[in-house]
Amino acid sequence: MNTILKEFFDIREFESKKMEGYISQNFRITSNDVKYVFKIYQIEPGDAELLHAENLVLDKLNELDGLNFPYPIANVNGENLTIKSQSGETKGYRLLSFVDGRFFSEIEHTEALFYSLGSFMAKLDKQLLTFRHTAIEARKIVWDLQYLLLNEKLIENITDPKDARIVNYFFLQYKENILPVLNDLRKSTLHNDANDLNLLTHNGQVTGIIDFGDMVYGPLIMELAIAITYAVMGKDDPLKWAVPIVKGYHEVLPLNEEEIDVLYYLVAARLCASVCNSAYHKKLSPESDYITVSERPAWDLLKKWITINPLLVSNHLKAEIGLSGKISEPVDQLIDKRHKFIGKNISLSYRSPIYMQRAAFQYMYDGYGNTYLDAYNNIPHVGHQHPDVVEVGQRQMARLNTNTRYLYDLLGQYAEKLVAKFPDPLNRVFFVNSGSAASDLAIRLALNYSQNDHIMVMEHGYHGNTRLGIEVSHYKYNNSGGSGQASAIIEAKLPDEYRLGHESHGDAPGPKMAKEALLEIENKKVAAFIAEPIVGCGGQVPLAKDYLKNIYPAIRAQGGICISDEVQVGFGRLGSHFWGYEMQQVIPDIVVLGKPMGNGHPIGAVVTSPEIAEAFNNGMEFFSSFGGNPVSCAIGMAVLDVIENEDLQSNANMVGEYFISQLKTLAEKYECIGDVRGSGLFLGVEIVRDRESKKQDTRLAALLKNGLKDRKILVSTDGPYDSVIKSKPPLCFSKDNVDEVIFAMESCIKETNQ
Ligand code: PMP
Repeated sequence: MNTILKEFFDIREFESKKMEGYISQNFRITSNDVKYVFKIYQIEPGDAELLHAENLVLDKLNELDGLNFPYPIANVNGENLTIKSQSGETKGYRLLSFVDGRFFSEIEHTEALFYSLGSFMAKLDKQLLTFRHTAIEARKIVWDLQYLLLNEKLIENITDPKDARIVNYFFLQYKENILPVLNDLRKSTLHNDANDLNLLTHNGQVTGIIDFGDMVYGPLIMELAIAITYAVMGKDDPLKWAVPIVKGYHEVLPLNEEEIDVLYYLVAARLCASVCNSAYHKKLSPESDYITVSERPAWDLLKKWITINPLLVSNHLKAEIGLSGKISEPVDQLIDKRHKFIGKNISLSYRSPIYMQRAAFQYMYDGYGNTYLDAYNNIPHVGHQHPDVVEVGQRQMARLNTNTRYLYDLLGQYAEKLVAKFPDPLNRVFFVNSGSAASDLAIRLALNYSQNDHIMVMEHGYHGNTRLGIEVSHYKYNNSGGSGQASAIIEAKLPDEYRLGHESHGDAPGPKMAKEALLEIENKKVAAFIAEPIVGCGGQVPLAKDYLKNIYPAIRAQGGICISDEVQVGFGRLGSHFWGYEMQQVIPDIVVLGKPMGNGHPIGAVVTSPEIAEAFNNGMEFFSSFGGNPVSCAIGMAVLDVIENEDLQSNANMVGEYFISQLKTLAEKYECIGDVRGSGLFLGVEIVRDRESKKQDTRLAALLKNGLKDRKILVSTDGPYDSVIKSKPPLCFSKDNVDEVIFAMESCIKETNQ
C-alpha cells in the first residue's frame, strides 16, 4: 500500500485504518488532514472494465449539486484506476474521496429521513437514466434481483427447515410474479445496494451514498425495493415506513402501477438473497460476522412480510402516490354472481363470506388487502402453497400425467412410501380422488370381503358425499334433507366423555359405550364398523378411552371389517400419533385417507390388507381415472417428505399442547367454555350456557366464530348443536399464532358478555 500511494499518488505520510469490505480491501487514509478511501482489488479478466465503469458513474453523479458521492482521484498518470501486475498476480487500486456524514443506521429514524431516502435515490437514478455501460450490463451477480435464482442453490445452507420453507415460498412467488414481467419493466443503471451502512446523512436527511461495487443494469424499481428493504428492517409496521420512501422517490422520479405491483415480491426477493448469502458465508467462515450483520433483522422482516397481504402493499402505496389500486367487487355482488351457476347448498362460511385470493402457509389473503390467520383449514396440511408441494406438482404436470393402466415409477414409489406409515398387514393401497370416494370404496371392500350386509356407524359421523357415503353418515342422513337411517345401518352412540362423565356408574365410558353398541349387533351380520377416531362433525369428540379396543374384536367375530376414517385426523395432525387409531391402541382392517394427503390437491386412498384387497379382485376391474395418477403421486410423496423434513408431527404436538393449555386457562376464566378437547392440532372448544347444565350455546358459538373472523382469524363451528368451535390449522401453526387466537378469543368473549 505504501509504495503504491507514494509511487502513484504522491502520498508519503499518512495514517491508515482498515474498513469493512466485501469485493475489495478498503482503507481509510488520512494525509495532511484530508481523508480518502483506498481500495485494493484482485483483478480478474474483465474486472478492470467494471471498475472503469464505476469511475464513470461516480463522475456522472458528482455533476449533481448538493449530494455527496465519492469521486475518483486520478493517479500521477491521470488515470482513475491503477493496475499493477507482479509475479503473475494483477491488482487494481483506486483512491476515492471520503464521503462525510453519519450513517443511516446511526441516526434517529423519522418520516422526513425516510422521505429524503426516497428522493435521494430517485435523484441518483434520474441522473443515471441515460447512462449505460456494457461492463455493467454484462454483469450477472447474486445481488441482482433479476438473477435472484442464482441464489437458489444456496438455500441448502439454511439450517432450519422452517426458515428454508419461507425462502422457498418467496422464490416460488418470484417465479410466478416477477419473472414474467421482468422484461416489461423500465431499466436503468442502479446503485443496487442502498443499505443503511452505505447511506450517509446530514441533519436528518440522506445526502450521500458509498460502495458502488454492486452496480447493475436492471429494472429501476429494484433500486427502491432494496432501499425499502433495509430501511424498514426492525420496524413494527414496515408498510407504514415504506410510504415516505416511496413518496420521496415518486416526487422526483414518478413511478408507474406496474412498478408498484412488483415491490412486495422484490422486497421479499432481496431479503431472500440476503439470508441465502448469510447462510452460505456462515457455513464457509462461521467466525466472520460482516456478511451476516443484517441476518437477524432480515429474517424477522421476511417472517413479518409473509403476514402482509401483497395486495395491501401495492394498493396502499399506490393510493399514497395517487395511482389507482386494484379494487375487488363487493362481496354481495360476488355472491350474486356465484349463485347464477352454483347451487345454494354449496354453502359459504361466515355471516359475510370471504373473497380469497392467495395464501401462504397459515396465512390467507383476501381480495381487499386483509390477511387471515388460518386456524381452521386442515386440508393445506403442511401449509398453504407449500413450495415443495407446488413445485413437485408443476414439474410432474409438465412431464407426464396419465392413469394406472400404464406403468410409471411414481405409483409404486408413493404406495411404498405410504404403506411404510402403517403396521402389518396394512400394505395394499387403492388410490382415489377424495375422502368420499375412499370411504365408498372401503364400504364396498368390506361388503365384498365379509359377504355380510349390516354396517355399524357412529352417531354424528361423516364419511362422504356419495350415496353410500351418505348412507353411512349419521351426520347427513339424520339431519335436514336426509332420508333417515337405512335398514342395513346400525347406529352406535357417540362415546363422548365430556357429556358422559369420565366415570359413569362405576364403568369407564369407553368400554361401557362399546358394550351398549355391541348389544345392537347381536344377531345381525355386520359387514363393517366405520368411525373416525375423533368425530369431527360430532364436535371434535375423541372416542372415549378403550372404546375401539372393545368394539373391534366383536365386529371381527362376526366376520366384519373395522374401518378407521382418518380423513380428518391422519398424517401426524394429532401430534402424539401419526394415525388416529393408534390413540385407541388398535389396528383397523381398512383405513380411509383424504383431505391432507395432497395438501389441497385431490387425493384419497384406501389402505388395507392383501387378504381384503385380493378378495376384491373378483373379475371386475377397479379403475379410477385420476386415482394414483403421476401428478397426484408426486404431490402425495412431497407432502410426506415435508411432514418428515419439517418434523410437523412434533410441531403439532408441541403447539397443540400449548394451544390446549392456553384454552384451558381461558376456560378457567369464562363459564362459556364448557370443554376443551382433542389432540395436537385437532381441537374442539365446546361453548355452553353454563358449566353445570352443559347446555350447548349455539348462538354464542356463532358469535365467537364471526367475531374471530372480524379479527381476521379463521375457525369454524360444528357438532349437533353447532356449538363447538373447531380449530385444525395447517401443521406449521406456531405458538405465536396460538397467542393471537387466544387473545382474539378472549376479546370476543368479553365483547359478547357486554
Ligand atoms: N371422511 C371424513 C371424516 C370427512 O371429514 C370427510 C370430508 N369432510 C370425508 C370423509 C369426505 O371427504 P371428501 O370431502 O374429500 O370427499
